[in-house]
Parts: sequence; C-alpha cells; structure tokens
Amino acid sequence: MAEGSCLCGDVRYVVSGPMRPVIACHCIQCRKTSGHFVAATSAPREDVEVFGEVSWYQSSDTARRGFCGRCGSSLFWDGPGRNLSIHAGTLDGPTGLTLMGHIYCATKGDYFEIADGLPQAEGEDPVLTTMMPDQGV
Ligand SMILES: [Zn+2]
Ligand SMILES: [Zn+2]
Repeated sequence: MAEGSCLCGDVRYVVSGPMRPVIACHCIQCRKTSGHFVAATSAPREDVEVFGEVSWYQSSDTARRGFCGRCGSSLFWDGPGRNLSIHAGTLDGPTGLTLMGHIYCATKGDYFEIADGLPQAEGEDPVLTTMMPDQGV
C-alpha cells in the first residue's frame, strides 16, 4: 500500500495494489506539464482511491491529466488502458519502486543527457508502459 498527495495536501490518494516500475516520459506534453519530464508509475484504476477534488485537463483526444486546482501539482495521467498513471514524485515515503526506462526520448530537452544506462525508446514503448510487477521484466 502506498500513499501520495499534491503539494498543498488538498488531493490525497491511496494505492492498494502493486505498482508498475517507474518510467520517465520525455514527450512534449510531459515536458510542458512538469517543467522537465514526468517520472510515473501506474496501477489499476480500481486500486487507486483519491480523496479531494482533482482538476482535469483534457490534453489529447484520448487522455487527460489530473492536477490540484489549488497548488497546481501534477498528479495523474489518465489515458487508454486499465491503469492510471501516477506521477512518482507525489508518492510519500519510500516507494520501493525503481526507474526502469525512458520513453519519447526523441523529444527530450537538449539541456541534459540521460546517463543512467537504462533503456531509451524514441517514442512509446508498449512493453514498458503496460508492464506490471507480477508480469516480470
Ligand atoms: Zn494541492
Ligand atoms: Zn509523456
């Protein structure tokens, strides 16, 4: 079980099941919404209980982004599929998670290098983004 919140605490959430390893997304939308890139885990929607009011921004035809309307913290990415993406930096305490790769590297910012030796995909990587802990690596 894991917990997280926005910066001001108006929005809190509890995750009751296993979470996917963290993936860093360097797409333009994640750059804009975070100011850098987004590192996110995910969990099945039914395992995520949210307290407080999330503001949603429809960022594309198929996805919306959840944030706190008061402090602006970027918390969730809600798109196709079974899982809700959770921005890993909003989790409280030790997460037990590890970063396992980078996606949309073709559009990453030019002001830094990715030097962690982890896999880098030019665009989307369905294997990375749908992986759950119980499915192995
Ligand atoms: Zn807040
Ligand atoms: Zn992205």
